Amino acid sequence: MRALANLGELAGATVLVRADLNVPLQDGAITDDGRVRAAAATIQELRAAGAKVVVISHLGRPKGQVVPEMSLAPVAIRLGEVLKTEVLFVPAVTGAAVTTAANQLQNGDVLLLENLRFVAAETSKDAAVRLDFAKELSDAVGASAFVLDGFGVVHRRQASVTELAEILPSAAGLLVANEVAVLERLIAATQRPYTVVLGGSKVSDKLGVIDHLLERVDALLIGGGMVFTFLAAKGYAVGASLLETEQLETVKGYLARAAELGVEIVLPQDIVVASHFAADAPSEVVSAAEITTSSFGEKAMGLDIGPQAAADFAAKIKSSQTVFWNGPMGVFEMPAFAAGTKAVAQALTECPGLTVVGGGDSAAAVRALGFSDSDFGHISTGGGASLEFLEGKQLPGLERLK
Ligand code: ADP
Ligand code: MG
Repeated sequence: MRALANLGELAGATVLVRADLNVPLQDGAITDDGRVRAAAATIQELRAAGAKVVVISHLGRPKGQVVPEMSLAPVAIRLGEVLKTEVLFVPAVTGAAVTTAANQLQNGDVLLLENLRFVAAETSKDAAVRLDFAKELSDAVGASAFVLDGFGVVHRRQASVTELAEILPSAAGLLVANEVAVLERLIAATQRPYTVVLGGSKVSDKLGVIDHLLERVDALLIGGGMVFTFLAAKGYAVGASLLETEQLETVKGYLARAAELGVEIVLPQDIVVASHFAADAPSEVVSAAEITTSSFGEKAMGLDIGPQAAADFAAKIKSSQTVFWNGPMGVFEMPAFAAGTKAVAQALTECPGLTVVGGGDSAAAVRALGFSDSDFGHISTGGGASLEFLEGKQLPGLERLK
């Protein structure tokens, strides 16, 4: 993969940087600035080389419309604070205002354009439409190089990912290069025992990664909403918990394959069940094999792994040399059901080996629960991208940089 150094002399050059500044916003305020901080290293490196840096990103899913609540304007302010320099912002993606602003840039200056997804062509299914948009964007700022640094989008065929890399001399930014290096270590996973912890809401999102990792790991710990499909596959009643019946046969297949391979699939011994899905719902701890024996009967809804399971998972994690974790163990957004996720996060911070957290909600969860990025070996900024990478898929954005 081409690196920044391959772009040659950058002094005075205008460089387009595709970052992933898709941060969560609430009433115009950024609630987690992890992605802004993660984007800083490459921008600083380019500024130090004397480049004029034009940063582009998407935010949310405005679907080709201008949606004021999804403007990158608040991100420009935060980015300026992180970079400790003024970041110019233009409320447009292409056109005269963009060209005027780009023309005024001095070496080392930073300009942020408006949300790419305000323009439908960015995510068009038609490659010719995306190519035209990429050319328009590149021409508007007078770009002479392109840096792909948004790991969260490298698995997408979008104008600012694949087409810009086609029409301009291009390279991976530091964030993308680092993500790839860490994930490659996970695929090679030489340091054993290698434990993968999976949770989150849906099994169907994680089937590919289970399939690909099963023969590479020593243990697979399962929690979150997806665990109920595993418990059901073992013949247990799961009450009103999340269950994907159409995945039952696939999951039974994984259990059988794991047994053949000698891979341990660890399911929780106990579950925190609630009477319904609410932060203040009454809850009880029951055996995972007897969910419907709680006082909520068939209505019992599993919303977290139980304390015994949390302790078992933590012990397993702490005695591993490589750990990849994707997906919260419970509905961590509600404090009553956050203990399992917190115990797993805590165990990762105490693990002596390489620990990697992947997934948007998982990364948000560890920060919301009070951990800091440096407590972990690596927090991936790309949820879907990191899973697809670990599934062994070729990611279009990365392919263009080879
Ligand atoms: P990530 O973004 O890290 O890949 P997911 O998107 O797969 O994670 O899943 C995150 C969501 O899963 C969270 O919003 C969390 O509330 C939910 N979740 C976890 N456990 C359960 C459960 N037992 N029942 C319902 N939802 C759950
Ligand atoms: Mg998610």
